[in-house]
Amino acid sequence: MIRIADAGSGGPFVASHDPATTRRPTATMTDHQHDPLAAHRVQREPYYQASGDELMLFEAAHARRLPLVLKGPTGCGKTRFVEHMAWRLKRPLVTVACHEELSAGDLVGRWLLDSEGTRWQDGPLTQAVRHGGLCYLDELVEARADTLVVIHPLTDTRRQLPLAQRNELVHAHPDFQLVVSYNPSPTAREMKASTRQRFCALEFSYPGPELEAGILAREAGLDIARAAAIVAFGVRTRRLEGFGLDEGASTRMLVHAALLVMQGLAITKACRLAIVDALTDDADVHAALNSALDAAF
Ligand code: ADP
Repeated sequence: MIRIADAGSGGPFVASHDPATTRRPTATMTDHQHDPLAAHRVQREPYYQASGDELMLFEAAHARRLPLVLKGPTGCGKTRFVEHMAWRLKRPLVTVACHEELSAGDLVGRWLLDSEGTRWQDGPLTQAVRHGGLCYLDELVEARADTLVVIHPLTDTRRQLPLAQRNELVHAHPDFQLVVSYNPSPTAREMKASTRQRFCALEFSYPGPELEAGILAREAGLDIARAAAIVAFGVRTRRLEGFGLDEGASTRMLVHAALLVMQGLAITKACRLAIVDALTDDADVHAALNSALDAAF
């Protein structure tokens, strides 16, 4: 289920997109001269199966350039959704996978020393702010606290990015929009109220079983009957959440199982490799997952 609310309930630089579905492999020098974000344009439609009215809600928030947080468990489609929206809205997409070492400098840029002296290099956030792209900070709360200081003036009416090291104040390009993701799991860091209240929130969960089976079929090329069987097992693992498992199998894991079946593995072996053995190191939970697997197939 997806809903929008007025307030909300990572090398460090540019992170990957699915090469099979999104980016043009290379951007030439000429592209960069005319379009600094050429490498970040999404050329082909990334496949995204909507669960509700999330496309319309994103478009509404984008029309007003409101900062958005996508909330939901890992592997449930948030990144694919942003890639799809960037393609749909014809905006470049700069993605950063945040992690505990990621600093404000990694986002905004730094002075570099080369044979010609020192020169400033914009970081991924600055590139998007200056030239007008969507900037997607994946798992923002994982980043160091100083990154939040940098994004705050971008998320209110000022729409500014101070580059203290360069003594420059960058006013955001009219097309710039900030999108972040957040996985509110019991073991994850919480998002502070002072940050949370700057964002509209789109809440994601796993797609319903029929839609999810369709996603597996499409992503892996698997027949719908076996895709549905994998999904049914995935749904069982989600019932173990809170009983030793923080999160059950993600859609991503189910897609992996489907790919392994297409590679010739029996469903049980594929699910063991992609789901059961990957989900936990706890012996009791592992045994419970194995029993569920044996019961399912
Ligand atoms: P998240 O960003 O939430 O961790 P992703 O967007 O990376 O998750 O999704 C993981 C994978 O699951 C995708 O690469 C894709 O194969 C599949 N997937 C999940 N949800 C969808 C969806 N709604 N439509 C298409 N593919 C999806």
